[in-house]
Amino acid sequence: MTSASKPQLWFLTGSQALYGEETLEQVAGQSLRIQQLLTASGALSAEIVGKPVLTEAASIRRVLQEANADAACVGVIAWMHTFSPAKMWITGLDALRKPLLHLHTQLNEALPWSTIDMDFMNLNQAAHGDREFGFIQTRLGVPRKTVAGHVSDPAVVARIDAWARAAIGADHLRNLRLARFGDNMRDVAVTEGDKVEAELRFGVSVNTYGVNDLVELVDAVSDVDELVAAYAADYDVVPDLAAGGARHESLRYAARIEAGLRKFLTDGGFGAFTTNFEDLGGLRQLPGLAVQRLMADGYGFGGEGDWKTSALLAAVKAMGVGKTRGTSFMEDYTYHFGPGKPKILGAHMLEVCPSIAAAKPSCEIHALGIGNREDPVRLVFDAAPGPGVVLGLVDLGDRFRLVANEIDVVAPDEPLPNLPVARAVWEPAPSLSTSAESWITAGGPHHTVLTQAVGTETLRDFANLLGVELLVIDSGTTPHDFADRIRWNQAYHRLAQGF
Ligand code: MN
Repeated sequence: MTSASKPQLWFLTGSQALYGEETLEQVAGQSLRIQQLLTASGALSAEIVGKPVLTEAASIRRVLQEANADAACVGVIAWMHTFSPAKMWITGLDALRKPLLHLHTQLNEALPWSTIDMDFMNLNQAAHGDREFGFIQTRLGVPRKTVAGHVSDPAVVARIDAWARAAIGADHLRNLRLARFGDNMRDVAVTEGDKVEAELRFGVSVNTYGVNDLVELVDAVSDVDELVAAYAADYDVVPDLAAGGARHESLRYAARIEAGLRKFLTDGGFGAFTTNFEDLGGLRQLPGLAVQRLMADGYGFGGEGDWKTSALLAAVKAMGVGKTRGTSFMEDYTYHFGPGKPKILGAHMLEVCPSIAAAKPSCEIHALGIGNREDPVRLVFDAAPGPGVVLGLVDLGDRFRLVANEIDVVAPDEPLPNLPVARAVWEPAPSLSTSAESWITAGGPHHTVLTQAVGTETLRDFANLLGVELLVIDSGTTPHDFADRIRWNQAYHRLAQGF
């Protein structure tokens, strides 16, 4: 995938001409200072780009339309310095199609108690101007995040960054092209969905290709020495697969799959893909290692034709940019009800991303009972312990729903020497029973995105700016309240869709 230039957040400052030119110069200076403080925090995933102070409707509309049209702009931050009458924002906000964050702040942190006069009051009245702006946003029904506080507070910047990451994910999804090799796994329901609605709602374009289009590229790959060397450097390759080993040819064929798949995705401008083990055409192995390595590079992936999880994975990976922890395709597999704290063992046949690995993965080859092909090469590892979230996307027929569960990835109770796939063991909040009951009541999928890079706040912002329902299962969840929330949400979303 090509790495674009750093995404931009436009910083817009509202004011008006009432207080004169000198005051507007002070406003511009304070706006610049706020922007500098945000940038100097070093905690924002996007670049702050300042715009001249806005004081009337035509220029507000123009700058918001420019934001819509600028590919580098992933979102807009608005701050109403002094007092910006909000009617001048109506047509501009109505035209805005980019994510909006309303920053409610002021430059001075402490009140100058002994010297404060009316000039100071008139200059520093965002407490007043931002409420006027809040009213018009609510009156227009503009989706946005409101963050209040001083920008020297790391918690304020963290909340802005959570939204910035969501905006980056939404932008990635908006421009995403997804290739499916084959269709859906036969008879599976949850991986189906409305691709037309997905392109309208999320932007992602989902199209199917014959798997033999990929096979042609794989068969045409001649030199894999460089890839095989990279495998030897990055992983503990078992002796059988290593150069000179009895099954080295299988590793070389896995490398050909990777090279062919990369060429297909690069040539087509794809950022995500799916495979289907029921439709492997002329592929000699189910793609395992190749899929794992492509995920590690930021590609979305879903097994069994699951394009929704693949697109979601690509978006969450974009949201986690720059984080040291990773994000993977995942599937709830089997349970440990006890002894000890109940846990979920998650994995997939082969395709778990090494970005969540606790240690250097082992590159192995084992038989696979499905797919009817040669034994596939794969990376085997345990996921790194630590907090995370699993996130799933379903199509309810009339709309999409996201379901999230806060989790703690933990080390397996015991080593798993006979399990030939990468896996994650986690304790779901608030408990296995409440988590599973709630997830199942919500109709959540068995395929998920497991992320240790992106937190719940970013996922909430992401759902909000896409206009998609998000049900979160966390430490405060009870099954009855959760079931009630599903019913209320159902009514809300049906009403919100109009007639
Ligand atoms: Mn699966």
